[in-house]
Amino acid sequence: MDAILSYAQARRDAMVELIRRLVEIESPSDNKAAVDRLGEFLADYLSAVADLRVHRAKQVGNHLRVKFRLPGKKKGGQILALGHLDTVWSLGTLERMPFRVADGRLWGPGVFDMKTGIAIVVFAAESLRELGRPVGRRLVMQLNSDEEIGSDSSRAITEAEAKKSAAALVLEPSAGLEGRVKTGRKGVGDYTIRVKGKASHSGLDFEAGASATLELARQMLTIAGFTDLKRGITVNPGVIGGGTRTNVVAEEAWAQVDMRVWRLADGRRIDKKFRALQPFDRRCRLTVEGRLNRPPLERTPAVLRLYRQARKIAGELGVKLGETQVGGGSDGNFTAAMGVPTLDGLGAVGEGAHASQESVLIDRLADRVALVARLIESL
Ligand SMILES: [Zn+2]
Repeated sequence: MDAILSYAQARRDAMVELIRRLVEIESPSDNKAAVDRLGEFLADYLSAVADLRVHRAKQVGNHLRVKFRLPGKKKGGQILALGHLDTVWSLGTLERMPFRVADGRLWGPGVFDMKTGIAIVVFAAESLRELGRPVGRRLVMQLNSDEEIGSDSSRAITEAEAKKSAAALVLEPSAGLEGRVKTGRKGVGDYTIRVKGKASHSGLDFEAGASATLELARQMLTIAGFTDLKRGITVNPGVIGGGTRTNVVAEEAWAQVDMRVWRLADGRRIDKKFRALQPFDRRCRLTVEGRLNRPPLERTPAVLRLYRQARKIAGELGVKLGETQVGGGSDGNFTAAMGVPTLDGLGAVGEGAHASQESVLIDRLADRVALVARLIESL
């Protein structure tokens, strides 16, 4: 059997124990102190085997850079293992959703997205070190604290690390119970449309008013028309509001819109369309705020090459590694948009991210560790 795979299997209990500790330090994105506690625990845990750097942040948790000390003469460039410390779960969730081991799975808030992913990199690095396997490049694990809330604070750090990297391995959860990796992610844009009309009494002075709600409704039809399912372009006015009373012609109305695209060029094109919106009723004023926040992770030849390399290694480990493309973004979108070969969804095999049945398969921990370790070795 593969030496790293059997090493990882032998370390399974230690891995489960680390995952338990990571899950039991709750780390909601909106609680800096909590996220910082997890970062400090990891920094302490890894201090003997890695060089650590803390990127301090004011509003959100600090971001942690972990450079593992691994055997082998280093050529230029690095491999970026990308993950996040934060979860979508509020403090106290553990009381009703405690970490537990049952039915061949690990359960608990954040176990799948993505605390097990962090443990996979830690044990991949440990196996390479303990087995004395030479690694040709620096291995840097970047753990961001704000991935679940848009990565505003960490984006520049991720991009700076990506610039130095030959490849980015993203430890987000895999897809399906067979553990497919993600070779494509949609880009995401957020827009707010505001209409300022003119208020009037709907009975006494109807014609003097310019209805913001009516104007917004007409704009919604235009915006909905940007959707092009064949190209995977979706535009969703998920939240709208406006007006004050039924007998008042509305002065104000607004909408919040989510836009998703497979291709950067489509994102730019739709962005222009948002900016070019004009009021139907000239008495109304229209303002559009927002942009494409996350560029898409496009399924480029570079991404495919990396996927095929991973698939070959997985095959040698006795695992069939499938691929998929998903509508949700990750920090891998940023590295891929910079042209860095990026493979996402290399993390845990399980299900239920952001849901109460969040869990990971215990008997898929070892092959995931071996896959990541051998991929690092091969780059
Ligand atoms: Zn995640």
